[in-house]
Amino acid sequence: MISVEEALGILLSNLPERKVEKISFQLAPGRILAENLVATCDIPPFHRSAVDGFAILASDVENAPVELKLAGESRAGGGIPGKLNPGEAIAIMTGAPVPEGADSVQMIEQCRLSSDGRTVSILAPVKVRENIAPRGSEAGVGKVVLDSGHRLGPAEIAVMATFGFTEVSVYKKPTVAILATGDELVEFDQTPRLDQIRNSNAYCLASQLRYMDIEADYLGVAKDDKRELRLRMLSGLERDVLIITGGVSMGEYDLVQDVFHELGLEILFSKVAIKPGKPTVFARRGEKLVFGLPGNPISALVTFECFVRPVLGRLCGMKSPELPRMKGELQADMKQSPGRTAFMPAWVFWEEDGWKVEPLLWKSSADIISFTHANATFIFPKHRDFLSRGESVELMLLPDFFVRQR
Ligand code: AMP
Ligand code: MG
Repeated sequence: MISVEEALGILLSNLPERKVEKISFQLAPGRILAENLVATCDIPPFHRSAVDGFAILASDVENAPVELKLAGESRAGGGIPGKLNPGEAIAIMTGAPVPEGADSVQMIEQCRLSSDGRTVSILAPVKVRENIAPRGSEAGVGKVVLDSGHRLGPAEIAVMATFGFTEVSVYKKPTVAILATGDELVEFDQTPRLDQIRNSNAYCLASQLRYMDIEADYLGVAKDDKRELRLRMLSGLERDVLIITGGVSMGEYDLVQDVFHELGLEILFSKVAIKPGKPTVFARRGEKLVFGLPGNPISALVTFECFVRPVLGRLCGMKSPELPRMKGELQADMKQSPGRTAFMPAWVFWEEDGWKVEPLLWKSSADIISFTHANATFIFPKHRDFLSRGESVELMLLPDFFVRQR
């Protein structure tokens, strides 16, 4: 049985080429840039005043207070002002071009206009270049302002607007399908017979995908029947990635792997030393990737985050899409039978000087109700059988960690 790390290695060495598309820059938040964006102009495009005040020569006001002749005005969008001569001041507004001949701007709070408006008293000296953002000081034409691989958010949208990039190349999101399997499953709007349960995994997975900004096509529930599985899987293989739940363990009606063989999929692993989620399967056919996640709801949820997210995130262009990890102090003694890396549900909270990890009671990997109280999982290393209270353990934060409230 391979380790979690080995499984990740196999996943990452089987990623198909990422695809690129051009989209409007306004639709780009959350996407990953697939080209370098180069400044098309200097920013600022002129020596720009950072304050409202008076453009002057610093050497004129060394012995401030000094009275200077008011020689005009420069306002934002009001054209390029005339030249300033020694002994003069030009009124200037925030964002306006500094006139030629001036080397500094004194802020309005340090200036007093005469009653006839012909002169202005500068009350304090200024340094050369004070309150001026020189032309090109934020970016000179030709400078790479956003690198390929950069995640686009509000500041990046502003940068794209600044340079007039109306369309940008971003990584295409993979198309994804979800297929549930199991004779016992009915849909949420049906009343199960005594021997049936409602399908919850498909909806759980769809919502996990939504946290990654991916909308999946839902292919419904397939019966534990090879013909039906084959048909649904063929339809799933029209997408880039197919996620199947259930039917991957060793039971007589766990037929998913048989059908993978029939359809000519290459199975890259079919068992991982992870708890929950041992029977996780990963397969490919050409560029198409297929995950077979175990049917137990917590297993499906955890294996999605551990194995599917790293793949989908990279296909979307992310460099490290893994859920964030950190360390916290375990609040109780914990036991396990060693052999598999365990991802145990926990409530993680900040207290006084650090993160504390309260392990949650859960009955089994089927117990999704207990998992609703978790904001993280802590990792029980596979060679350990005991962790003691007070020990520092590694955490994998769930996607909504920072917004979840108890
Ligand atoms: P399997 O992996 O098919 O052996 O299923 C393991 C357990 O998970 C069984 O108890 C199934 O009833 C349950 N299960 C399988 N698929 C789902 C699903 N889509 N939603 C909820 N429970 C499921
Ligand atoms: Mg099943």
